[in-house]
Amino acid sequence: MNLDAALLEIIVCPDCHGQLAVDEAAEELVCTSCGLAYPVRDDIPVLLVDEARRPGGAAAAGPSEGSSAEPATDRPGEDG
Ligand SMILES: [Zn+2]
Repeated sequence: MNLDAALLEIIVCPDCHGQLAVDEAAEELVCTSCGLAYPVRDDIPVLLVDEARRPGGAAAAGPSEGSSAEPATDRPGEDG
């Protein structure tokens, strides 16, 4: 992998605009802020969120579940 140092200084994560760190082993640019890993193809960073590898496991978590039951505060409107 042979990336232009000047290029690396100007490119940022398209998702969160964080700084990108070069992962030589994986041939990826890893966002130091959100953790997205962008592939480098033919020494050209592919800065597409669609192409990026998400941090963590491969299994995507579904929508956050959780029942939020708000206690209904029943106050009698007394005005005296
Ligand atoms: Zn990011």
